[in-house]
Amino acid sequence: MDILKDKIRKEGIVLSDQVLKVDAFLNHQIDPRLMKEIGHAFAERYRGDGVTKIVTIEASGIAPAVMAGLELGVPVIFARKFQSLTLKNDLLISKVFSFTKQTESTIAISAKHLSADDHVLVVDDFLANGHAAKALIDLIGQAGSSIAGLGIVIEKSFQDGRTLLEGEGYRVESLARVKSLADGQVTFLD
Ligand code: 5GP
Repeated sequence: MDILKDKIRKEGIVLSDQVLKVDAFLNHQIDPRLMKEIGHAFAERYRGDGVTKIVTIEASGIAPAVMAGLELGVPVIFARKFQSLTLKNDLLISKVFSFTKQTESTIAISAKHLSADDHVLVVDDFLANGHAAKALIDLIGQAGSSIAGLGIVIEKSFQDGRTLLEGEGYRVESLARVKSLADGQVTFLD
């Protein structure tokens, strides 16, 4: 997706050869026009696949997921990372190891929003080693729902996430595939 790659080149900050900061348009300040294009791009890839719900994880997955949900005409559920007074009963719970925080946390969604009739698109901002995606897949599996595939805004292809997910038979669609962050430079796969 060229406009996304341009945005990453212009506004992305390489924090290390492992971590890219995109808080100018995705992770803190959000560029709504770009999110709209991202939602459209995900919808183009999964239209006609019978997606009934989108599942993402708070906070940075929400903006691209909502735009994809708008385009596909389906609801969006975000897994919560923190205990909430309003999220108590019938919780689906999984553990996720955070790449950026290097800590394990618990994520949850309410069971009432997913059923065995649902065919789910998983959306997230980044794919690194696939821990967040695997935790979301686990939650969706607990509900008995099936998975249409994953929609990732920025994939770091030098990490193991895609290999892991494809190895388990999941379809992975990434809008920007970063080949390397070496020497402070972002280079893309294609
Ligand atoms: P994974 O679970 O695939 O190892 O990592 C993906 C999750 O970690 C994403 O939900 C994202 O929030 C965070 N993440 C991974 N790599 C990066 C990165 O380079 N930059 C930012 N901003 N977040 C990342």
